[in-house]
Amino acid sequence: MEAEIGIIGGSGFYSLLEDSERVDVETAYGKPSDSISIGKVAGKRVAFIPRHGSKHAFPPHKVPYKANIEALYGLGVKRIIGTNAVGSLVEEYAPGDFVFFDQFVNMTHGRDDTFFHSSPVIHVSAADPYCPELRKDAYSISHELGLKAHRDGTVVVINGPRFSSRAESRFFSSQGFHVINMTQYPEVMLAREKGICYLGIGIVTDYDAGLENRDDIKAVSAEEVGKVFAKGIGDAKRLVLDLIPRINDNRECGCAAALEGAVIAGH
Ligand SMILES: [Zn+2]
Repeated sequence: MEAEIGIIGGSGFYSLLEDSERVDVETAYGKPSDSISIGKVAGKRVAFIPRHGSKHAFPPHKVPYKANIEALYGLGVKRIIGTNAVGSLVEEYAPGDFVFFDQFVNMTHGRDDTFFHSSPVIHVSAADPYCPELRKDAYSISHELGLKAHRDGTVVVINGPRFSSRAESRFFSSQGFHVINMTQYPEVMLAREKGICYLGIGIVTDYDAGLENRDDIKAVSAEEVGKVFAKGIGDAKRLVLDLIPRINDNRECGCAAALEGAVIAGH
């Protein structure tokens, strides 16, 4: 079984795949979140993993990130599209908006975040962790579809499963971070360690704790969050459906060469 593109996201994405089959994969790092569905989208072979498992079995800090990336890598995947619900830390990123992350700040702890635990020592660059080509294409497609989208944004990744305190949330806002999430790290870096292009799509569902009680920002109810997210998933599927046929077989970004110069010899 092979696939060229991987999708990691919510179970709403199963329906994108035509003629799909489910395969159970075992990796050196254990089983992925669920069996992998492999099928076609616009003539390309696409593998889909529901990040939290089809029964939502894995909380963010327990997602088998390494097994997920290793399994996709083993199938020959060169590009991964990861979709995520995010909370907004700034007024301009409103519920319903899309954001294509260009930077992350890792505030998680205790997660196994590298494939390189032994010799040779590898220091992979994380300066630009997200694929610039995929971000550019995704942004122009979102524009064509009439979606409100942000070309870039910094996602701060917290460990969860709890949400932020108001003080934490205010602190993150004051640092200039745009959105908050629990699953982008280490997923994006593990993909980078494998030389796989990674596109992180955030769907803003609500304002985080530090903003929600400001008088000028309307508080969002759980019901509204649900509605915003349901619409967001529909829009994300349209976006991904338009993006996949535009993906070139040749990669002109630097993602495949992420490990060049990363081996430190002779220390
Ligand atoms: Zn790339």
